[in-house]
Amino acid sequence: SDHLLEYPKSPNDMDWSKLYPAIMPPKSNINSKTASPKVEIADIGCGFGGLLVSLATEFPDKLILGMEIRVQVTQYVEDRIIALRQQHAASEQKLYNNIAVLRANAMKFLPNFFEKGQLSKMFFCFPDPHFKARKHKARIITSTLASEYAYLLRPGGVVYTITDVKDLHEWMVKHLEEHPMFKRLSKEWEDSDKCVQIMRKDTEEGKKVERNQGDKFVACYVRLEKPEY
Ligand code: SAM
Repeated sequence: SDHLLEYPKSPNDMDWSKLYPAIMPPKSNINSKTASPKVEIADIGCGFGGLLVSLATEFPDKLILGMEIRVQVTQYVEDRIIALRQQHAASEQKLYNNIAVLRANAMKFLPNFFEKGQLSKMFFCFPDPHFKARKHKARIITSTLASEYAYLLRPGGVVYTITDVKDLHEWMVKHLEEHPMFKRLSKEWEDSDKCVQIMRKDTEEGKKVERNQGDKFVACYVRLEKPEY
């Protein structure tokens, strides 16, 4: 249950230095004139953090946030990140300071964490399928949530989806396809994009599907500048 989760009143109320201590100054030191870096990439339902860990070195100068609802799983990812930071603390690059995990219900209050147009990439990797029809409204991509994702993404930003469940793939495609702010990216684009490879290979679910020789369905959508009906 998520009723004990705390949410900032607005993105400005978040103290990001707790999540990115090596990069973000403590909130009390930030004045309105100093621009501090912002989270740009979000992994929604990050699970055990495989995607985050790979993205960390792919985008060393971007802040990347995993959001996960399960307490123990969030703790696991937090410990994993702390260990990686320690292992690389002496190295020149000081890798993994740019990734963090937050326990949150990503279906609620995302605009409390991120400003309009703040994000350049949102990942939805192997989301829970909620097979039964009466559970479909619990799926992480719906028309309402697609509008919220469009609000948080900048024009040119990308929604990445991957699943091994064909029915869920078709559901996500339908809802993003119908949305005037999103346009599907081509197969050629998918084949040439580094992040598509990473979400196929480096997510824990992606690895599991690989072992079971299951299918992986990918769909990526660009956030348009203006609605296209
Ligand atoms: N993305 C990971 C991967 O590909 O390996 C994990 C996939 S797992 C099947 C789905 C994850 O989403 C679970 O860890 C679950 O706890 C999390 N989750 C489900 N609903 C969520 C929500 N509303 N907010 C945040 N996380 C959620």
